Parts: sequence; C-alpha cells; structure tokens
Amino acid sequence: AEPIYAALRRSAERFPDRLAVEFVGARFTYKELWSRVNRFAHALQDLGVRQGDRVSIMLPNTPQFVIAFYGAALAGAIVVNTSPLYVSRELEHQLVDSGSETLVMLDAFYPRYEEIQDKVPVKRVIVTGLQDALPFPKNVLYPLKARKDGTFVKVKARGSVYDWRALLAKSGGQPLPIKVHPQEVALLQYTGGTTGTPKGAMLTHVNLASNTAQCRAWMPGLKDGEEIMLAAIPFFHVYGMTTAMNLGISIAASLVLLPNPRDIKMLLSAIDQHRPSVFPGVPTLYNAINQHPDITRYDLTSIKACISGSAPLPAETARKFRELTGGANLVEGYGLTEASPVTHVNPVHGDQRDGIGLPLPGVDSRVVNEAGEEAAQGEIGELWLSGPNVMSGYWRRPQESAKTLCEKDGRTWLLTGDMAVMDHGGYFRIVDRKKDLIIAGGYNIYPREVEEVLYRHPAVLEAAVIGVPDEYRGESVKAFVVFKPGQSATPEELKTLCRRELSPYKVPRSFEVRAELPKTAVGKILRRRLHDEEIAKVG
Ligand code: ATP
Repeated sequence: AEPIYAALRRSAERFPDRLAVEFVGARFTYKELWSRVNRFAHALQDLGVRQGDRVSIMLPNTPQFVIAFYGAALAGAIVVNTSPLYVSRELEHQLVDSGSETLVMLDAFYPRYEEIQDKVPVKRVIVTGLQDALPFPKNVLYPLKARKDGTFVKVKARGSVYDWRALLAKSGGQPLPIKVHPQEVALLQYTGGTTGTPKGAMLTHVNLASNTAQCRAWMPGLKDGEEIMLAAIPFFHVYGMTTAMNLGISIAASLVLLPNPRDIKMLLSAIDQHRPSVFPGVPTLYNAINQHPDITRYDLTSIKACISGSAPLPAETARKFRELTGGANLVEGYGLTEASPVTHVNPVHGDQRDGIGLPLPGVDSRVVNEAGEEAAQGEIGELWLSGPNVMSGYWRRPQESAKTLCEKDGRTWLLTGDMAVMDHGGYFRIVDRKKDLIIAGGYNIYPREVEEVLYRHPAVLEAAVIGVPDEYRGESVKAFVVFKPGQSATPEELKTLCRRELSPYKVPRSFEVRAELPKTAVGKILRRRLHDEEIAKVG
C-alpha cells in the first residue's frame, strides 16, 4: 500500500521525457509534471495548508487539475472534487460541508464563489486561467483566447486570492517532507446526486490506488510508457479520476485532456489527431459518437480498450462502436462513488455477457435477499460489496455511514442500493436501483427493463422510464424519449412495441417526447429529476 502520488513519482522516474499531458497545444513531460506537482505542494504548505486540511478543486480536465490533485495529495491534504457545473448554492453546501479552507478554481468560475464568499470557511482561493496550462508561456503562442463575453474575470490579488502562475513561479520546488499514511483520506467525492442531498464519500489513498491497480489488472494488454489515454470524462468525478487520470498516470500513458466532454466534434478531432489507445467513457458518450452525422470522416481505429461505466450500456451502442473502431474492446463495467468506483467489468478478452460482468480482483460481491441471506443463483437481491477500494464512510455523517456500511462474516460490506442477480458462472447483472423501483397496482416494475425495450426502436436515441402518481395504482409507468435527429415514432408505435415485449402492467401509460433528457455531469440520465418534475406538476 502506498499513497496515490507514488505512482506518478514512479512514472516520472521511469519515463521522465515521455509526454504526460497534452491540452489544446500545451504539453508536459512526466518530469515536468512531477516538478510542478512538487512546486504546488510546496506552495500549499507555504500558504499554511496542513495535513488533513481540505482543498477543494473546481476545474475542468486541464493540466492544472492533475497538478493540483497530486500536489495537494503530496502535501497530505484531502482533495474535495468540486463540479464545475455547480451553481453558487451547491458550491456553498459543499465548501461548508467539507470545511474547505482552500479552493483552487478556474478564473471563469470565480463569480460563483464571490457570491457566497461570506458564508463559507474558505481562507484562500487559487485562481487559474486556461492559458496557465502552458509550460513556457513566453515561447509558445497559446491557441485559446479569453472570451469577450465576460466569462473570464480579472481577479486582483487581494491577499486571499492567489494567482496560479505567480504561486508556482515563487514556490521553492521541493515540499517539506510529509509522512502520508496510505490509510488516510485522500479524496472527498460527493455522490452524484441522482438521489437526495450530496454527501462526501471518504476515499483513502489505499482506496484510490487499489482501484487503479484493479482496473489495470483487468486490461492485460496495456503497456507501461506506450499508451495514449483519451481523458474525455471529467476528473472531478471519481470515475474519470480513476479510469482516465490515475490509471493513465500509473502506466505512464500520455493523457490527452479534453475540457468539454459534450463537444463531440472536438472529441472526434482529438481521436483522429492523437490516436488514443484507451478511452474510458459512459454510454451516452459512445452513443453520441455513434450518432454523429460526420462520423465516417474520422479515423477511430487506434482505440483498443474502453470501459463504459455509470449506467447500463445498450448492446446496440457497444456493437456499433466496435464496428466504427474496427474491433475496440468496449466492455460494460459497474461501480459507484463509494467504491472508488469500479467493482465489476466484463472480461476484455473472453466470455463477455449481457450485464456488468465479473467482480474485479480483490472485490467480493454478493446478492442479499430480503431475508438478509445470500440469494440463490438467479434470485434478485441487493448487491453488497467488499474490497480494498470500498470507502471508509461518509464525511461527518456517522448515521448515513452506518446505514451504508455493515459488518458481516468478519468483513465490511458496502450496501449498494442496487438490485442485482448473479447468473451462471458468477456473472452479475444489475436489475435496477432499489429506489427507482416502480410499484404499480402491487406489481414491481424495474424501469430499466422497459427502457431497454424502447431502445430497440430504431428511432429512439434515449429513453427514461419513471413512476408517476396514480390514484388507482399508486404509481403508473411513464416514458420519456428523445429521438435520433430527423427520426420519430408515434406513442402508439412505441406502445405496440412495448406490448409485444412486456407484460401489460409494465407498458407505459403515457409518453413524452423531449429534445433532451436531464443528465448528471458524467452524462447519466437523471430519472429523479424527471420524477420531481412530475410530482411538482401534480402538487
Ligand atoms: P447517488 O449515489 O447520489 O444516487 P449517482 O447515481 O450519480 O448518485 P454514482 O456513484 O455516480 O452516484 O453512481 C453509481 C450508480 O450508478 C450505481 O449505484 C448504479 O445504480 C449506477 N450504475 C453504474 N454503473 C452501472 C451499470 N453498468 N449498469 C447499471 N447501473 C449502473
């Protein structure tokens, strides 16, 4: 067991001159990256950041993110991942809840902090602009210009506001040596928020390093110092942090950073130009690539390995993507924030089956039925997990922690809140989330089963199914659909399809066509938001 930054130090020792990060023209080698991480750690110490202090990072995928994360970890601080999409209210909640005294943020986000600065414990803000990504600003012409629409604000150094570039330039290089114990908390990752109020999962150095190693073990073909990692999914969520950043760094890959995962054209150009070999993503992202009108103009054949996590991967999405890339292994995986996050993945080589595959090495997983016993093969129950990647609890929420972690048979188990089945050969399938279960007229309906049927219609791009209040049945099934560009279907057609494939009680009573569906920062469809909208309409 070692602290999370040990892998970066090793890559810098073994491959000092290899390109570590590339960001719209700015490039750092591993040696340069490690040196900046040390400078940043020293600068934090100089500013008074001590071991165990919380440092919130509110940045898109940029070299500064990588430097700030590893630098804070090297200084023994706890990083708090902060979504750049947060509005002031959400930012305030997280800064207060985590007790962050230091905030590292993109200058363009500063106004959102300014609004709430009197209500949060922050003592110092380090601001950075996109142009600070450049290692040698005087010699290189930076390809981005600050926008004139006011999104980039000028911040005068006011004592508590520090300029990233000046801070790094002034820093003495080597930080004071700190003994970071691998069991200490390295990251507070607030859970995505598809359910209830966000709470901070405490992930230790061991948790993060273990999950990186577990993912690596699952991809046997990866070669140290030779891969190119397309880092399109956000690092501010632990899924992107582990599978794109930490995994990439640990194998000394060159990371191609993309600041905006929703810009599919930019993503496709980056694939074409940088020829990445590894590309972790989410179903909505692969789907958007598949559907892009100019897709045939881009060469995607460099891609070898992809994990798709965070939501079910429709079989059709995987098939089309494999075809476009000339056979890239796109396998479905599963995980959750509380497990750093990946726990199950389909085998990259060998028998791939519908569902989330097999537990990663070191992960124990069992399905527990309502009686609290291990379910029989094929029986639905809640998925429980145990392993070195499972969090130590929620930050300052002992009650929530006790509800989510339990001791049994001498191990600590994480209760995932997901309903699952173990099939023949130890393969797992997620049936649905416990809390998304629809109960209509006494019947249990798993929305996912209905969504999968809707996805089979050729015009359907995205589907979400929820339960809406119903006087007679308690709840009734409602479906939201987004059509592919230029295509459509009538509710009757969709209903006919559902009637053919599903028992009558599962067939949606109503349909609503939308231009898009609400999604989380990682692109997961927010059923709960749709549900809340429906409740608001009724009430
Ligand atoms: P919250 O935990 O607050 O509800 P969230 O859903 O965004 O928010 P995450 O930790 O980001 O929290 O997501 C984990 C959840 O995503 C899992 O519990 C599971 O429901 C779902 N999930 C992840 N991968 C898959 C998959 N391959 N198939 C089905 N569901 C998945």
